[in-house]
Amino acid sequence: MEIISVTPRGYCQGVVRAIMTARRTVEQHPGEPVTMLGMIVHNRFVVEECRRMGIRFVEDPKKSRLDLLDEISEGVVIFTAHGVSDAVRLKAEKKGLTVVDATCPDVIHTHTIVREHARHGDVIYIGKKNHPESEGTVGLSEHVHLITCIEDLDDLHDLHDILITNQTTLSLLDTQDIIDACLKKWPDARIAREICNATRIRQEAVMELKDTDVLIVVGDPRSNNSNQLKQIGTRAGIQETFLIDSVLSLQEEMVKNKNRIAVTSGSSTPNSLTSQVISFLQEYAETGRFELPEEVSSSLL
Ligand code: SF4
Repeated sequence: MEIISVTPRGYCQGVVRAIMTARRTVEQHPGEPVTMLGMIVHNRFVVEECRRMGIRFVEDPKKSRLDLLDEISEGVVIFTAHGVSDAVRLKAEKKGLTVVDATCPDVIHTHTIVREHARHGDVIYIGKKNHPESEGTVGLSEHVHLITCIEDLDDLHDLHDILITNQTTLSLLDTQDIIDACLKKWPDARIAREICNATRIRQEAVMELKDTDVLIVVGDPRSNNSNQLKQIGTRAGIQETFLIDSVLSLQEEMVKNKNRIAVTSGSSTPNSLTSQVISFLQEYAETGRFELPEEVSSSLL
């Protein structure tokens, strides 16, 4: 049995920056309530570590960031790496909150492109419904139209001077399929491919895997980029792909009698979680003993 440790994998620079910003904010505002608007990243281990630092989270998948702000009455609010709309920023300032912005520079880049184009034309934005990043970008202008799949194109009419762009953490392959469908309908549309570099190189590393029987993605079930890595593995022809949040979710049936097992992780997954999975599988390959550890070894950075 061979265990392939896929690289690059794990934390991207945007997530590291958000964690450092959260830590610094708590240090710089002693005694003040510090609240994160949404989950810092979609990973429960990271959220738990931040809670231990003293950060409160307001999160409800059924509520928008704008509505969640109603649950913060004082102190510091941290915007997550996913970014927010101008309306959210304005509301936070009007409420007298101290704003700390941990928006990833790659998301800010998308916002700049979208904002500029929406002044004179329509923007087709490929993204996930109810995801904080799409909520922030679509909220920039009424001329930004969210589509989640090819079928959604039927609902778009009377657009002019079109720019097609996308959420940063989507699948390279699925996004290209939707762009191709858009271009059939609007051949003159401009395209701004905004899948971020971190997402792209992690997906490409999975696409390049050869003769692999199993792909294990370490990541939270709510993490978009972790789910995309699993899907990319399937589209790349890997027979079995699994998304697990830690070594404790491994099952022997996933890996028994397999020749080549590749392990990767989403950009919101602490590297300690992935290293623990790799070490466990390496030992299993050497000894044949499948005895899970009692606890997860998780550290933020
Ligand atoms: S996945 Fe990309 S866009 Fe998202 S935080 Fe990381 S670098 Fe930024």
